[in-house]
Amino acid sequence: MTAKTFKRKDGRKNDELREIKAKVGVIPNADGSAMWQSGDTIAIAAVYGPKKMHPQHQQDPETGVLRCTYIMNTFSVAERARPGPNRRSTEISEITKWALEPVVMIEKYPNTVIDVHINILQADAGTRCAGINAAALALAHAGIPMKDMVSSVSVGKLDKTLVLDLTGYEDSEFDEGEGSTDIPVSMTHNEEITHLQLDGKIAPKELKEALEMAKKACKEIYEIQKKALKESVREEK
Ligand code: ADP
Repeated sequence: MTAKTFKRKDGRKNDELREIKAKVGVIPNADGSAMWQSGDTIAIAAVYGPKKMHPQHQQDPETGVLRCTYIMNTFSVAERARPGPNRRSTEISEITKWALEPVVMIEKYPNTVIDVHINILQADAGTRCAGINAAALALAHAGIPMKDMVSSVSVGKLDKTLVLDLTGYEDSEFDEGEGSTDIPVSMTHNEEITHLQLDGKIAPKELKEALEMAKKACKEIYEIQKKALKESVREEK
């Protein structure tokens, strides 16, 4: 397949996001929660805290701790995923924390921990981005002071074409041959990048283009996050 003949299987334009559904307040017992669905990828985030950090020796009198845990459920993929943490889930938990930490005013909560649990109910690529979008919403819903919102999306390079928000099919179909490139990006509404990963190869000029694509998409995502938060406030009144 060449750049000229490249056409997305789901008919999307190259810079078009999948259909998004977002809902805040989906887990009543959590301090904050949200669901984020991008196409067939569904993530739920639940926030608990701030609460006293245990064990005590992990308490920091200067600041609190943001603890993120990403789990892909066994039933989230066609072939049952192995339960329990693994290298991938540990990495995604860490990068989720890094993506959110710059906006969360955690220093207001010394000696405490804020737990962010991210569960992937259905995976069709872009689960880390869906998890970050849900987690940012859940933190805001929990009333944790934040300097800004964080929005996340992945830009891919399939064959020779930059495309937004890859599906699982797109991600795996191009893994052979020249291979695919996947660039998950998270940024604040203020356009500060808080997380950037690069899986594959890309020229500097194209990376710039990819980041422009991500920036535009994150603006769209931000509007959806804002709307979901406003709706939750209206429902809770
Ligand atoms: P992301 O979900 O953030 O894009 P990856 O690039 O690691 O992260 O994974 C891409 C997709 O590959 C996932 O969304 C999921 O659809 C699929 N996948 C990942 N891990 C597994 C697994 N253990 N079993 C089956 N499919 C998986």
